[in-house]
Amino acid sequence: MRFLPVFLDLKAGPVVLIGAGELLRAKLRVLAAAGAHIRVHAIDGNHDLGLGSEDAARVDVAAGDPLTADLSGVIAVVCAGAGDVGIVMSVRAKALGLPVNVMDDLEHSSFIFPAIVDRGDVVVAVGTGGTSPVVARRLREKIEALLPARIGELAEFIGSFRKTINGRIAEFPLRRRFWERIIDGPIGAAVLAGRKGEADAALKAISDPSAFARAGEPEGSVALVGAGPGDPDLLTIKALRALQDADIVFHDELVSPEILDRIRRDTTRVPVGRRIGKPGIGQDAINQCMIEAARSGQRVVRLKGGDPFVFGRGGEEVEALRAAGIAYSIIPGITAGLGGAADFEVPLTYRHEATRITFLTAHKARDAEAVDWSTLTDTRMTVVVYMGLTAAPAIRAGLLAAGRSPETPVGVFARVTRPDAQGAVGTLCDLPELVRRTQGGPAILIIGEVVRHAGSLRRDTPQHIISDLLDAAE
Ligand code: SAH
Repeated sequence: MRFLPVFLDLKAGPVVLIGAGELLRAKLRVLAAAGAHIRVHAIDGNHDLGLGSEDAARVDVAAGDPLTADLSGVIAVVCAGAGDVGIVMSVRAKALGLPVNVMDDLEHSSFIFPAIVDRGDVVVAVGTGGTSPVVARRLREKIEALLPARIGELAEFIGSFRKTINGRIAEFPLRRRFWERIIDGPIGAAVLAGRKGEADAALKAISDPSAFARAGEPEGSVALVGAGPGDPDLLTIKALRALQDADIVFHDELVSPEILDRIRRDTTRVPVGRRIGKPGIGQDAINQCMIEAARSGQRVVRLKGGDPFVFGRGGEEVEALRAAGIAYSIIPGITAGLGGAADFEVPLTYRHEATRITFLTAHKARDAEAVDWSTLTDTRMTVVVYMGLTAAPAIRAGLLAAGRSPETPVGVFARVTRPDAQGAVGTLCDLPELVRRTQGGPAILIIGEVVRHAGSLRRDTPQHIISDLLDAAE
């Protein structure tokens, strides 16, 4: 992030605006709408600025040369359609430590204008670091469509009661709950529906705000949340909501940083995962931490890669929570096998060709030896193996010994749904080599005829090349 979004107080002093033509007039409108006092230098001499009388009162048309104009007391310099004058003004402003924007010129700008959604007190600024105003504008349109029309009024309404409530609820988390209950409940709905008087009366009628904030809240709870295989856009809406509501999140190592970014900023994050070669804090300790946090009244999220109930030890955690009498919920996630299938276009079932799916884990060669491979020889069964990289040679040996054909198509799909995802397909014979080619985990193996349909191996390998690879292997 090169530019930090901040909101500038325009009452602090005048903004100097330099430029010409429609570009100048457009910036003038933005600044005037925000209530700025503006000193305009129209360098083409055209002083027809097209302002309404109300705005015009806050605009001074400056006569002198902007390059020598006095900038003391000025809070920002903006150049729009100013040509080379903009560059010189940028140098001048920077020397004085003044924020400066030269339109469409990142090099000479120390701040940039976002696309703005303006709903009164609620303002959303969308930036793209100056790279693509078009993307910012498209996003703004989407946000416009998403935001309730009266969201600004809701903010104003809350603002008008904030002092009173601050005085009556001392603890910050409880205060947050109070406002969440107001916003999500009938009072918030009344404001959004334009019935402010009703909302006002209802809020004033709350005699004990602390009790109101506590009412209906469980004592503390745990949500086991599936984070999916990596792509943050694959989080479910429920998962996202849980992340935004949580007071504390215990997360696995496998959860991607992009997903951790979706957690509310002031939420405590505790990594508890194990990684190969690094011991974690242990399952019992994790259970204990979650239970203690919930007992202290917190909303706890236990965030796991993929789905909590697919090789995720969610079952054990639920048992511990039940035994401790803690309220809990389970929010499923997209398991790595499904993420990989979608990412690499491998349909796990296919009419007549694949009618069964087995999800299997084989962490170590020892585990692979314990698998009864004779149950996995049906050619119409797709086998998805988790944690199978180390044991790949043993998996191959087991399947071959049980009688599955060495020509069975196999895919190794690593880091699925992430930007560095990589896949390799071949036959059961090649399995250890395919593992080497995908360069590290986490990875799933998919074994079965359906792998022939794989449509992308890093999205730029066309299907016919995959067919050729498989044919060559045969
Ligand atoms: N609960 C998880 C699985 C945890 S076990 C789920 O439902 O996906 C960990 C194993 O999951 C890894 O060894 C790997 O086999 C698989 N895995 C997790 N994330 C993955 C990813 N992004 N790409 C490929 N495999 C992944």
